[in-house]
Amino acid sequence: MIYLDHAATAPVPQAVADAMYAVLTAQFGNPSSQYPLGLEMKKQVELWRKTVADALGCQPKALFFTSCGTEGDNWSISAACWQNRHVGRHIVTTAVEHSAVLACCRWMEQQGYEVTYLAPDQSGNISAAQVLEAVRPDTALVSTMLVNNELGTVYPVGDIARGLAAKNPKTLLHTDAVQGFLEVPFSAKTLGADFITVSAHKIGGPKGVGALYIGPRVRNPRPLLAGGGQESGLRAGTEATAQIAGFARAVALRQERLNQTLAHLAEIKTYAAERLSAIPDLKLVGGGGAPHILAAALVGWPSQNIVNDLGSQGICISAGSACHQGRPSHVVAALHLPKRTAGSVIRLSFGPETTRDDIDACAEALRRHRNQRLPML
Ligand code: PLP
Repeated sequence: MIYLDHAATAPVPQAVADAMYAVLTAQFGNPSSQYPLGLEMKKQVELWRKTVADALGCQPKALFFTSCGTEGDNWSISAACWQNRHVGRHIVTTAVEHSAVLACCRWMEQQGYEVTYLAPDQSGNISAAQVLEAVRPDTALVSTMLVNNELGTVYPVGDIARGLAAKNPKTLLHTDAVQGFLEVPFSAKTLGADFITVSAHKIGGPKGVGALYIGPRVRNPRPLLAGGGQESGLRAGTEATAQIAGFARAVALRQERLNQTLAHLAEIKTYAAERLSAIPDLKLVGGGGAPHILAAALVGWPSQNIVNDLGSQGICISAGSACHQGRPSHVVAALHLPKRTAGSVIRLSFGPETTRDDIDACAEALRRHRNQRLPML
């Protein structure tokens, strides 16, 4: 199998599975139990929190484990709107956010909020000036992702944070960094966002665990789950210890070779862009600066047919985000590309183990698809 869909999810290294197995078996204690098996687990959870917090560049006490990136996005939006309920009922976001943000914003609209969805240019870019211009005195929240999951575009979250401090210091800033964490260099400290969402399964951790950074401007954050007081009383529920152990192990593995991995991803992306660009009718889409995501269109050939054809040959790529399950992607739609291009967009995404041979095989399969099938768009 040739796996070129790391933005959907990444393979779990053996060391991560081993760390999880140990916690599922010998170290199965509940961190709230008051005997050594539990107390040891409590200590471990705090060490794993520190591993993830160090990688994010924040204090461990500002980091809360969640069940996934979607949860972090939902929690951020509800906590920000709760804190700023007296500031106003306006949210600024972008039309290219993950559905974990967009669906939550739509729900806020049903609660009486007004939401401004900013449109990108044809490369997928949105400027800090564009975001700041949309901010009003009654803007409770700005939610802008760090890296777009379909295009790899990197958004100027740091500039937005600095601009917000000048324009409307009460407005809180959330960034969905699920595709940015350990893929592009950033730290919570320098970014300046009040909420930062990350997820384990994009970087070799297990599915079903993520983390949310909550910064100091969020006073008495609204708890997500009330109950037994876990996660400083903000997100109750017995800690998913094996998932958290796997998350921390994946982060540590990635950190050990971060510079080499980022350089490798950038080199693979450049190579893939060259190989794909040599295929007739193939156009690169978006100006994604993230090193692990490349969007392209085989103009005229429907993306789902390409994905199916390559899939039948053991080559995994995606037609936009895996979360859309065959429906047209709202991200591609927001680019306002010509219809034949928009219907043909595919995404390749890379990980540390991706090789030039993988790219060669994919490029050849795309070339064969173009030569053997008739364009249908
Ligand atoms: N945000 C972005 C940008 C994503 O790419 C994803 C997953 O594809 C999510 C949020 C949701 O993360 P999770 O699958 O952990 O809920």
